Amino acid sequence: MTATHDVIVIGGGAAGLMCALTAGQRGRRVLLLEHANRVGKKILMSGGGRCNFTNTGASPANYLSANPHYCKSALARYTPAHFIELVERHGIAYHEKELGQLFCDISSKLIVRMLLDECAAAQVRIETGCSIGSVQHGDGGFRVKTSGGSFAAPSLVVASGGLSIPSMGATGFGYELARQFGHAVLPTRAGLVPLTLSGKHQERLQDLSGVAVPVEAHCGKQSFRNFMLFTHRGVSGPAILQISSYWQPGDPASAAGQTLRLDLLPGQDAWAWLREQQNQRPAAELKTVLSDALPRRFAQRLCEIWLPNRPMRQYNEPQLRQVAQTLGNWPLVASGTEGYRTAEVTLGGVDTDGLSSSTMMSRHVPGLYFIGEVVDVTGWLGGYNFQWAWASGHAAGMAA
Ligand SMILES: Cc1cc2nc3c(=O)[nH]c(=O)nc-3n(C[C@H](O)[C@H](O)[C@H](O)COP(=O)(O)OP(=O)(O)OC[C@H]3O[C@@H](n4cnc5c(N)ncnc54)[C@H](O)[C@@H]3O)c2cc1C
Repeated sequence: MTATHDVIVIGGGAAGLMCALTAGQRGRRVLLLEHANRVGKKILMSGGGRCNFTNTGASPANYLSANPHYCKSALARYTPAHFIELVERHGIAYHEKELGQLFCDISSKLIVRMLLDECAAAQVRIETGCSIGSVQHGDGGFRVKTSGGSFAAPSLVVASGGLSIPSMGATGFGYELARQFGHAVLPTRAGLVPLTLSGKHQERLQDLSGVAVPVEAHCGKQSFRNFMLFTHRGVSGPAILQISSYWQPGDPASAAGQTLRLDLLPGQDAWAWLREQQNQRPAAELKTVLSDALPRRFAQRLCEIWLPNRPMRQYNEPQLRQVAQTLGNWPLVASGTEGYRTAEVTLGGVDTDGLSSSTMMSRHVPGLYFIGEVVDVTGWLGGYNFQWAWASGHAAGMAA
């Protein structure tokens, strides 16, 4: 097999572009193959068009994986500070939103432009609109047959992403290729995704669509404090998107399913607050009192279905404790998720057991690498997923 390049990267998203420019900077002849008509589509649509490109607090604790240690090495060697340095070198203005999340001031187009400029400077060849027919491995490396011709290289990097947002070019290609080369692929499911409700659970809340409530969402040992938003079909908003990655569909009563619980007065001692209200306004009804702390329509709905509504003075201590208990542990019975159509990420993927954590290279097939979302490493909402794409792309780009 005669090599046409040193490195072939499949997929021109965040991870693939970072890998390509890093390898190119080392003097490697890099070919990047992208089947969509342009690279970086998810970067363009991310962060509402302003790309939440990293999180200054990113650490391994912000990622889900069957092996929570796998992401440590790459994240430690390419940190948010490295990417910020790149962004600043290209004169891209940015700002910090909540919790260390960094966004472009103007447009995510600038991030794609920056990556393309870096690729051009490193003489990376980029082919868009290029469908992959087959990938073979033999003496001297990999042969990739595509709609744009046949290419060969000793290193092949798979950066084809996960299954979320198929309309943006997402495919299961990377998983199929992993299996072809003897890699295990862990079950995939939608993450950072709105949850759906059904039956009486949906009927009770459907007309609250558009109402936002600050909550602390709990599932198992994990919790996130942020807003929940009622939608026509269920619930969304950052607190729900975050907890969705930890939630498994299933009967909440069974061992497989986990009930979601919401603290509706996050950061407050509900019991102490109710006692205070009872002392200060004994004639006020519970729904009026709750309307001071929660959106009025939601407070009323709570008092129609989940809480007994009467003047505060009429609650004895056990009853008021019961109200506090419900407010701190309101059960949310989700029936499913909105699926890959709207999910920001795909959980699961190529099993990290078969990969080197320092180079991302396959333990089975020398020269084969998997990076970014196709791997079983998934970040929280807030810039963590791009940081994994940059870090894993950089690790492979330094080795391939
Ligand atoms: C709406 C939305 C908003 C988001 N916002 C943020 C955010 O603000 N911050 C954040 O950190 N994360 C965000 N994410 C998550 C983030 O976009 C992904 O985690 C990240 O893009 C993963 O990078 P990747 O390079 O692994 O995959 P991708 O960016 O998905 O890139 C994979 C590329 O491979 C190509 N490809 C697929 N199959 C083939 C094939 N067979 N042949 C050739 N090419 C192929 C695809 O077209 C695509 O260009 C968001 C996701 C979505 C959907």
